[in-house]
Amino acid sequence: MTVAEALRSGGIEPREARLLLAAATGFSEAAVLAFPERALPAEAEARFADFTGRRRRGEPVAYILGRQEFYGLPLTVNPSVLIPRPETELLVELALQRDFSSVVDLGTGSGALALAIKKHRPNARVVAVEASAAALEVAKRNGIALGLEIEWRHGLWFGPFGREEKAERFDLVVSNPPYVAAGDPHLAELRFEPLKALVSGTDGLDAIREVVSAAPAHLADGAWLLLEHGIGQDLAVRNLLGQAGLEEVRTWPDLAGIPRVSGARR
Ligand code: GLN
Repeated sequence: MTVAEALRSGGIEPREARLLLAAATGFSEAAVLAFPERALPAEAEARFADFTGRRRRGEPVAYILGRQEFYGLPLTVNPSVLIPRPETELLVELALQRDFSSVVDLGTGSGALALAIKKHRPNARVVAVEASAAALEVAKRNGIALGLEIEWRHGLWFGPFGREEKAERFDLVVSNPPYVAAGDPHLAELRFEPLKALVSGTDGLDAIREVVSAAPAHLADGAWLLLEHGIGQDLAVRNLLGQAGLEEVRTWPDLAGIPRVSGARR
């Protein structure tokens, strides 16, 4: 089978077929485009057939390849972490517009937010918390591969940072917590990703409520809390931020114009 025949045989989108064929053959994507008549070795053909079969059954390309780019960083991913989304890059941009010498990323997953921030603020202390041990392994591996030093903590939200007088405070807190409502039909499309990274109670706001209510004890004076949320949740999240006694409550839209991040400061 030739490259051109393989690309036509997959029954998947042309761009994805090129990516998967490059991964299956070890050819560059440019070579896949430039040499359609090249013959595929039998093992590469079998690997490509496996990849396209998985893709047709709905598995995300990022899991098939084991990687996803986020904010220009190549990250390793597997089904124990949420695949970093382009809309989450807004949270990185908002973080980098602020002054901070310490920042914590709650529910870091693959490490995406913490690593992107550290890349651009090498002198900041960057701490990342994750409740899933399997996800934390992926995040740590990404940190090593990228040569970025993060303080990784195993735990839930602000759990690792003590309470009351002993509470540890930060100059900035960011989080992309689970925010999909249990029973949301949209979950069918997300069935390959970890439910714990996606779903948070009947209205999708359980994790956000928990983070917001504990935040004032962990924010330094003037420190911002920035949270990603879903479509239609911005008003509820702003209300929670206000009820927690935080100030300058506001929401920012993502590139699609969807209210995507809300935040406030102490
Ligand atoms: N943005 C994801 C989706 O709905 C959800 C991610 C999350 O819950 N943090 O596709």
